Amino acid sequence: MNPKEELGRLLQAGVRENEPMALHTSWQVGGAADYYLLPADETELQEIVRYCKREGLPLFVFGNGTNLLVRDGGIRGLVAQIGAPFNYIYREGELLRAGAGVSLTSLARRAAKEGLQGCGFGAGIPGSLGGALVMNAGAFGSYIGSLVEEVRLVCPDGGAISLGSEELVFGYRRSNLAGKGIIVEALLRLKQGEPAALAEEVESYLAERRRRHPSQPSAGSVFRNPPGRPAGGLIEEAGGKGLSVGPAQVSEKHANFIVNSGGATAADIEELIGVVRRRVKDRFAVELQTEVRIIGEKR
Ligand SMILES: Cc1cc2nc3c(=O)[nH]c(=O)nc-3n(C[C@H](O)[C@H](O)[C@H](O)COP(=O)(O)OP(=O)(O)OC[C@H]3O[C@@H](n4cnc5c(N)ncnc54)[C@H](O)[C@@H]3O)c2cc1C
Repeated sequence: MNPKEELGRLLQAGVRENEPMALHTSWQVGGAADYYLLPADETELQEIVRYCKREGLPLFVFGNGTNLLVRDGGIRGLVAQIGAPFNYIYREGELLRAGAGVSLTSLARRAAKEGLQGCGFGAGIPGSLGGALVMNAGAFGSYIGSLVEEVRLVCPDGGAISLGSEELVFGYRRSNLAGKGIIVEALLRLKQGEPAALAEEVESYLAERRRRHPSQPSAGSVFRNPPGRPAGGLIEEAGGKGLSVGPAQVSEKHANFIVNSGGATAADIEELIGVVRRRVKDRFAVELQTEVRIIGEKR
């Protein structure tokens, strides 16, 4: 029996075959995943993990696909998206318990409404909480890892664990959560604030992003900032703004963004990443590292 039939029997979540990943990534590029599904809850996710382990099927998990470049040849094996079923937020005093599928913008808005301060910086970051924790997403000098009290994960063996803040390490756009399992929920510690002021803060962060960031499809900042200099500044000074490969273009508005101006392929974007890296290396002898995750097979 193939995974579609077997998992289809086990789970509420329908399994889709040959699902274009371009539908699930903010760059709107990426070839097909062999099998795609949206787990309905933690139990289903555990079932999927055990099934993949038993059958030796590779499993890739993602959230909103806003930090991913999926190559045009797609992804072999099974892809699970942590989405709507993990989209919940509960207040517990000064803590918020949130599912990994919650977007950082919803989290910021809800915290503001509750008069809880600390996650306003996430307004406008289009990723999910799960993806944000793995990447330790941040903005305007704040980052998600600093708020974490506890993270719940489904482990590679199909069990589940909760890790306390003392077991977690967060650094610049990285955490020790990568490889530990699939994040399903987190408990975040916030501070008391005033709802109206917090709502205003959220709106000002959103306005700042509209002013600074391009509106075309992108994955946010492509490169990590090397010590001492923002990557965007280096790219701009190296004459990188406006460079293009096909419809993939270094944004004129923000040099660390590569936008899909319409119909770009993952190969166009990956080639442009290489062009930008060489420019910056030739000019400043700095090797830029990508912040976006590049996965899948070339066509
Ligand atoms: C317009 C724009 C602006 C952005 N601005 C910022 C910004 O200011 N700051 C910033 O830090 N980032 C920014 N980003 C990048 C991105 O939104 C963040 O990195 C975000 O946290 C990624 O979340 P995601 O759900 O989209 O992750 P995905 O892209 O889906 O996945 C990223 C990685 O996390 C893993 N992952 C995802 N979910 C889980 C899970 N539940 N359990 C285990 N692993 C998981 C995936 O396997 C993958 O390796 C921006 C992106 C865009 C498009």
